[in-house]
Amino acid sequence: MRTSESGRIAVTSLDTFAEAKLADLERADLRRHLVATRRALEAGEGPVVYRNGRKYISFSCNDYLNLSQHPAVKAAAIAATETYGTGAGASRLVTGNHPLFDRLEERLALFKQAEAAIVFGSGYLANLGIIPALAGQGDLILVDALSHACIFAGSRLSPAECRVFRHNDVDHARKILEKERASFRNALLVTDGVFSMDGDRAPIAELAALCASFDVWLMSDDAHGFGVLGEGRGSNFASGAKVDVPLQMGTLSKAIGGYGGYLCASRPVIELLKTRARTLLFATGLPPASVAAALAALDIIEHEPELTVRPLARARAFTAELGLPEAQSPIVPLVLGDAAAALAASKLLEDEGFLVVAIRPPTVPEGTARLRFAFCAAHTEADVARLAQVVAERIAYSSEMNACPQSS
Ligand SMILES: *Cc1c(COP(=O)(O)O)cnc(C)c1O
Repeated sequence: MRTSESGRIAVTSLDTFAEAKLADLERADLRRHLVATRRALEAGEGPVVYRNGRKYISFSCNDYLNLSQHPAVKAAAIAATETYGTGAGASRLVTGNHPLFDRLEERLALFKQAEAAIVFGSGYLANLGIIPALAGQGDLILVDALSHACIFAGSRLSPAECRVFRHNDVDHARKILEKERASFRNALLVTDGVFSMDGDRAPIAELAALCASFDVWLMSDDAHGFGVLGEGRGSNFASGAKVDVPLQMGTLSKAIGGYGGYLCASRPVIELLKTRARTLLFATGLPPASVAAALAALDIIEHEPELTVRPLARARAFTAELGLPEAQSPIVPLVLGDAAAALAASKLLEDEGFLVVAIRPPTVPEGTARLRFAFCAAHTEADVARLAQVVAERIAYSSEMNACPQSS
């Protein structure tokens, strides 16, 4: 038994292990903390958050259309809770498949112009379930280097061989396929549609052509494109014509404003996943309130295309004001280098009344710690202008580090 640095008595090797790890993280500015945060929409103010008794305008929410606060969405969640209760009670394959699931899946498939859809407990769970169900022993998985953590996690759950291609580098992906495709039975290429920490988009049309020529199955994780690009349909609809992506994955937790994940695909693929995706089979279905909220949010997205374009317009006003590369999505990174610099910049903005969370390794590569600005429909033009002014006057950033949107 000994007394640790923090004064707490560490009694086991487990505690000693955790204390030592935490001390290392603290020294490297990589320790993280949960802060109680209440989000709200207040008249004339845009999206605000309350933290530690202070109020900020938030540029750190993925609730791009502010639908988590929308009266119709909240009412739908409340009504579903009254009708069906608070939980699904079991896996969807057992008794957890309440009637709202069918309606949501039909609507998602229609909106994404796919044959069918399946809803998972979250985006993270979707990727953990989909990837190993489709790629196994003797198969190849290709992943963009900056893909979301849960794409890598899903790939590791599969016995397939995994290769990582340089970020948005279609030629690199082609070279890997030229060399290796013939040695494998099936191949799956997975990429974010919009990269979550860089805000840039995958070259989805080029990737679709590459995949077609090598018989590779293309999967796009459009967590940050759905609801805000292509009139809400997502990044593969952003350049006008639809780019055919056979595996369109996404989340209900960002622009949809609630919680859950989904995949839109052909009917046989969806049927296979219902039988083989372990995160669907062995996890409880989403609560009825989440499914009902997603349905109500989807209604708004479909009927108000003018709402869906606003987050990108706000992001572009910001990048234009600062001379940064034009935003390709509502996410704008400002790369500052080390974790301490990013934390200091975040603190400075807090003092000005803006909440912009610093993003540090391992979420982003070493040396690319950054501020990540997320713009939403409720931000006013005045909010954005004042933010840009404070950033321009108070934060030292190098143009080279921010020369292209995929600065890492
Ligand atoms: C947020 C995110 C996820 C995870 O989705 P959740 O619904 O929050 O679990 C998956 N992929 C990407 C690219 C994301 O940004």
